[in-house]
Parts: sequence; C-alpha cells; structure tokens
Amino acid sequence: MINSKQELLNKFRKRGLSLYFHLPFCKSKCSYCDFYSLTGKSDLKEKYIQALINELELSGERFSNLYPEPSTIYFGGGTPSLFSPADFNLIIEKVKSYFSLKLGSEITIELNPADIVSKERLIEYREAGINRFSLGVQSLNDDELRLLGRRHDGNKAREVIRYLKEMEVNFSIDVISSLPGQDNSDYLASLKELLKYKPNHFSIYNLQLEEGTELFDSVNNGKLPEISEEVDAMNYKMTDEILKAVGYNHYEISSYALPGYQSAHNSSYWRFIPYLGLGPGAHSFIELNRVENLKDLDSYVRLSTKNSEPSREVIELDIQDLRSEFIFLGLRMDQGISKSEFSELFGAAIGSFYNDRINKLEDEGLIKNYDRVIKLTDQGKLFANKVFLTFID
Ligand code: SF4
Repeated sequence: MINSKQELLNKFRKRGLSLYFHLPFCKSKCSYCDFYSLTGKSDLKEKYIQALINELELSGERFSNLYPEPSTIYFGGGTPSLFSPADFNLIIEKVKSYFSLKLGSEITIELNPADIVSKERLIEYREAGINRFSLGVQSLNDDELRLLGRRHDGNKAREVIRYLKEMEVNFSIDVISSLPGQDNSDYLASLKELLKYKPNHFSIYNLQLEEGTELFDSVNNGKLPEISEEVDAMNYKMTDEILKAVGYNHYEISSYALPGYQSAHNSSYWRFIPYLGLGPGAHSFIELNRVENLKDLDSYVRLSTKNSEPSREVIELDIQDLRSEFIFLGLRMDQGISKSEFSELFGAAIGSFYNDRINKLEDEGLIKNYDRVIKLTDQGKLFANKVFLTFID
C-alpha cells in the first residue's frame, strides 16, 4: 500500500534534523565562485547576527516540537571565519534554548586560511562550541591559488593545518581537482603533500565553471583553455586510488574520510534527512517542502528589526519528487540506496516504480542492483548526473 503524503510527512518528521547557518560575507570574490556571498558589507555583520538569531527564534517556535533533536549544525558561507567566536557561541546557545541538541553533535565551521591569524583564534572557536573545522585550502600551489582568486597562499594554508594538527581536532580539507590549463601534476603534488597531515576528511571537487564568474568568462573568451574532461576523469580515478591506499573511505562522490570521520552534516543531506537553512540564500528541506530564503542581505537584516520572517520561495514536493530525490541523493553515497528503507518510507518496493530504469542503467554498467541495495558503479560515478536525471520524471 503506497504511503499517503500525510504518512510520509510523519515519517520524515522522525528522520531527524540538521541546521545550516549561511554567512554570506566575503572580503573578495574568488574567480570561480557563484555562491551567494557579498563583498563590502562588513558594516552589517553585527546586525546580521541579530537577524540570524531572529530567524532562529521564529524557526525554533515553529519547528522545535516537530523536530526536537537536531543532530548537526553547520556554519557555511561566504566566509564564517570573518565572524568572532562569540557570534557562534551566541547562535549555538540559542539553538540549545529551542532544541535539544544531542551530546557530541557535530558542529562545523568553514574556515578561510587567510583569516586565521593565530592558533588562539581556533582555540576560541573550539571553546565557543565548534568541534569540526572545514578548511578551504583548494590547492597548495601559489599560481593555482592566484588563478582561483583566493586570499591565502600555500604557506598560509600549511600554517593553519599545523595549528589544527597541534590541537588534535576533527578537521576536513577542501581541494579543487581540475583547473583550466592544468595537467594533473600540480593537483597531485598538492594532494600528496596534504596527505602528510592526515586530515580526518577531504572534500575534493572538480571545478564547475559557472556562468557569471570571472573564470567562466576567461574560458569563454579564450583567455584560458577549457577544463580537460580526460584530466578530470584521470584525477578522479587517481584520487580514489591514492586516498583509498592510505585508509580513506570514498564514501560519497566528492568525499573521503578516515573511518569514523564521515561528515554527519553532509551525510544527512544525502540520506534525505530534513534540514533547516537560515540566512539569505540558504536552502531548507522541511515539512516536505524545498525552501530557499531570498538572496537579499539588506532586506534580511531590515526584516529582523520587525521580528518578521525572511522572504522565501517554497516548492511543495509531491510524492514522485520525494521518491526521485531519495534515489539520486542516496546514490551519491558509496553505501547506495537501501531497498528496505525505500519500501518502509514509500510503502512499496523500489522496483515497482523504477524497474525499467534500473535494468537499463544496470545494462549500461552505471549502477549495480544488489539484493538489498542499489549502488553506482565506478563508471556510474563518472556519469553520475546522467544516472540522477534518469530518476527525474
Ligand atoms: S571565500 Fe568562498 S564564498 Fe567567498 S568568494 Fe571565495 S569561494 Fe565564494
């Protein structure tokens, strides 16, 4: 018997909750960045924290009974490290006043190495309640960092990694794998050097050229060559081999972790657990809706003084959308989709909806249909978008 929307809502409410806080402030814009972040707005930072607190209070009143125990908090951006430890402590304490935060819940901050002037700053973040640090290194090669428009150089990144190692905290490093005109020797040199520090986690992205970015324009008007698909594929394969050989699990398309150090927050997205995103440009999946807060920092800050909800776009997902999303989010993970979890959630076997598509993708060598799970093959990971699109009606 296929579950009704109300039954699904009840089931999703029991899956848990993650909290995301967007801090859309940057000192300068990186050449590849199309995230919602603004420069030249630092005078609004103090008011912005008040606005976030305002949204948190309104969300807490609305959702804390339905989703009482968030299991992760994530501060992303923009550049969270432009904010003080006291700001994060204020938000974390406010979360605790509405929700019952599980003991040992993962609380992550994204750090730009350029902002970390001393180890003491990191210690203060830890004292404020942060227990996981995600460092945007991207590369250790100074030419690449200049091309990317980053504010730090390789030595600054090395210095901050050393601080994190000395503190023996849980930390992750972001790396960009394929740049325009790059053969892979520079990328592999960065990766191998970073490995010496044994971070608990790596997020490794191949660069997507997004329209409207400086890098997109440079490639489009011929100033820089296209990113080579062969180099991209080769980097992906070599990264997998290199990291697995030294004990990392390739647990999601772009994510590698030492045992026990998968990102709980990011995993909750892929496991299709509800999340609340706060701040302009932040996304939520809550009450079976996809929600995006309007990308308008000024009006977000203004509204908070009136104790009003920020403007949002809400998309109500139907049962078909929910099934598709469950599949293509779950396929991102190495553990794949659990067939019993699908049946339990949606009230019928996955094959009863998608048999033809599953068989076709298996014939093409892109997925493997096991007794209990369905997973991407190595080939499927390279063509993941094609597989995901197959499940969208
Ligand atoms: S620091 Fe991050 S958010 Fe800011 S411009 Fe660079 S990539 Fe974008």
